[in-house]
Amino acid sequence: MAVPIQGAGTYAVEAMLGSLVPADGGALVLVHGVYGQRAVDALRRMGRRVVALEAGEGALPDFDALSRELAKEPGLTHVHTVHSETTTGQLLPLRAISDAVVAAGRRLLVDAMSSFGAISLDGVVADGIAASANKCLEGVPGLAFVLCRQGTMAPGRAPSLSLDLHAQHARLIKDGQFRFTPPTHVLAALDAALGLHAEEGGTRARGARYAENMRQLVSGMRALGYTLLLPDERQGPIIATFHEPAGWNFAAFYGFLQERGFAIYPGSLARTPSFRIGCIGQVFPSDIQRFLTAVAAYSESA
Ligand SMILES: *Cc1c(COP(=O)(O)O)cnc(C)c1O
Repeated sequence: MAVPIQGAGTYAVEAMLGSLVPADGGALVLVHGVYGQRAVDALRRMGRRVVALEAGEGALPDFDALSRELAKEPGLTHVHTVHSETTTGQLLPLRAISDAVVAAGRRLLVDAMSSFGAISLDGVVADGIAASANKCLEGVPGLAFVLCRQGTMAPGRAPSLSLDLHAQHARLIKDGQFRFTPPTHVLAALDAALGLHAEEGGTRARGARYAENMRQLVSGMRALGYTLLLPDERQGPIIATFHEPAGWNFAAFYGFLQERGFAIYPGSLARTPSFRIGCIGQVFPSDIQRFLTAVAAYSESA
């Protein structure tokens, strides 16, 4: 079942963790960037037992450590992972993580915020999958949701009044109403966005468009001398992180691109100076080519 929750994507992640991890349970969290770390912070705030398995930026999950920690602590009832870690653009091997969690007899929770609608979740066994209207579904911000397996929610478990998936779902079933003011325009926009998603050909077609955007972006940036942070096999199709060249001025680069109609992202890595470029939204290969022309002009002028 899908339980909608008003607010940004983080609200759905926090609602999922609070509503599905019981007070006497806990979660092991795979941390590959700021979004994994945010789940750790949320669990600590609500007083749930949490073990963070911290990987280096862009590193593969340590499956041996995962099994070891779970064997050591039977109280860790859940494993939480991000699917597409937007900090770096890394796509985590979700199917393998799901298999490991099932083998350990635990329950999986997934932050699929920046993959849902573009990357298939086939074969993934999870109790909860959190996503929002405004990433790969290409709606507007203001609504998030959690796909929950039947029977996993319990009344009174969530430590928050508003971020309580059980109560939210119960009320929607009872009379079709949100408990608190619904984001009406956002819901209408999401309805339209889902129509466009289906029209494009669904998750497979959308993912293929993003992957082609990414392919052209990476090869074009490489031709201009920029280097990708991640090895190709860990790079997902959503967002790419590039190393800052020596003597780099991000503000000047950002301003130059902004004047030409492009908004990019600063890096958010603690140790590696970097910047990021997203491939999602109503972005097509022709936009990527226009973008690369602008980057080439900047490189010539700098
Ligand atoms: C965008 C995103 C979120 C949610 O971010 P909000 O700013 O709260 O909408 C959570 N996890 C991942 C991986 C994201 O990319």
